[in-house]
Amino acid sequence: MMFVDSEYKDFRAGVRVFCEAEVAPQAAEADRTQEFKPGYVEKLAQQGYLSIQLPRKYGGREWNTVQYSIIVEELSRVCGATGLMIAAHNSLGVGPICYFGNDEQRERFLLPVTKDGVLIAFGLSEPGAGSDAGGTRSYADRKDDYYLLNGTKSWITSGKSCKFAIGTARTDKSGGVKGISSFVLEKGMEGFTVGKKENKLGCRGSDTAYLHFDDVKVPFANRIGEEGAGFKQFMITLDGGRISIGAMALGLAVGAFEIAAKHAATRKQFGRPIGYFQGIAWKLADMATRIEAARGLIYGASLLKDKKVPFSTESAMAKLFASEVCNFCTFEAVGILGAEGYSEKSPVERMYRDMKLTEIGEGTSEIQRLVIGRAIIKQMMQE
Ligand SMILES: Cc1cc2nc3c(=O)[nH]c(=O)nc-3n(C[C@H](O)[C@H](O)[C@H](O)COP(=O)(O)OP(=O)(O)OC[C@H]3O[C@@H](n4cnc5c(N)ncnc54)[C@H](O)[C@@H]3O)c2cc1C
Repeated sequence: MMFVDSEYKDFRAGVRVFCEAEVAPQAAEADRTQEFKPGYVEKLAQQGYLSIQLPRKYGGREWNTVQYSIIVEELSRVCGATGLMIAAHNSLGVGPICYFGNDEQRERFLLPVTKDGVLIAFGLSEPGAGSDAGGTRSYADRKDDYYLLNGTKSWITSGKSCKFAIGTARTDKSGGVKGISSFVLEKGMEGFTVGKKENKLGCRGSDTAYLHFDDVKVPFANRIGEEGAGFKQFMITLDGGRISIGAMALGLAVGAFEIAAKHAATRKQFGRPIGYFQGIAWKLADMATRIEAARGLIYGASLLKDKKVPFSTESAMAKLFASEVCNFCTFEAVGILGAEGYSEKSPVERMYRDMKLTEIGEGTSEIQRLVIGRAIIKQMMQE
């Protein structure tokens, strides 16, 4: 996959300049205060990072999925929280409206993204429906010209700071997964409130919150696609989203690796740089090798997505592998830095905490293995 990387050398360099100047310097403070500074999201919007794959017609950049992955990797290399916010907004917030919405919805909800730097959240998880997202209990009761929505969404990225949120709800109580529909919910709708912001282990700059719906009147015009199409829509949405969480994991792994490698070359013990000792050099070799393998899987899934051929198994593999590489690299980086790695003196401490989200969000590692395993069995049964 090195040839893919060389094709995007200049693109990556441009993203890195911005990340070093604007993203890296705020990362530790955002982690400490658990919020991004005013004006920060607007800066990301000006770079086009809120409208990465959005068609030009709506003010977007129309970058391909490899470029999208490079952006999320570079952001996460210096700030995991920013990588998460951008990945969730683009894949899960903008994506469903772009792919399954109509022109009127795209103009209403996507133009403000590029014009005003508006964030869109994705409300799928509920207190009783996590890995089993089809188990949603929120209910949208169809009335004459609106739905009456009741329910709670949990763990929603940018739930507090977003202006719009995609929300899934049951429109047919007996319909199983075919009875789920999706809607665009707007802040300011009566009965739509934001609950407690979560105090998290990592990715602390990115806000995560409950969304509550209490007799919210949702116009028909806010339903995305057909009634009952919600489950299919979010399965497709998550396939794409998993590539971006894989890219986030890759970025954190690269960030931690680079700091560890530099430390190993400069920190002297027993009269020599610690990287001279085989015990440390082998760790760095394993980190670098796994990072390249993860990048290959992410680019592979990205290229398949852009070719519009099935990529569901490949995106699950990319996310599963990259998040486990991220776990390995951030863990080893903390060790290589010794006491410094265990303290706020080094960003690897934050990276190690940020890492765990990549093994949970958009489907845990167990769920990725289920997706991959089921695809293998299905193929075997067809042969
Ligand atoms: C920081 C953060 C941001 C998030 N952002 C969003 C967001 O923007 N929108 C959104 O909708 N959700 C979001 N989530 C929720 C996330 O998608 C869920 O946490 C995730 O899907 C897992 O669900 P759960 O936490 O309820 O765990 P559970 O489903 O309760 O799982 C608990 C454990 O059981 C395992 N498990 C469950 N089922 C199986 C099975 N069949 N086989 C084997 N093991 C199994 C899991 O792998 C896990 O280890 C976010 C979560 C976090 C932490």
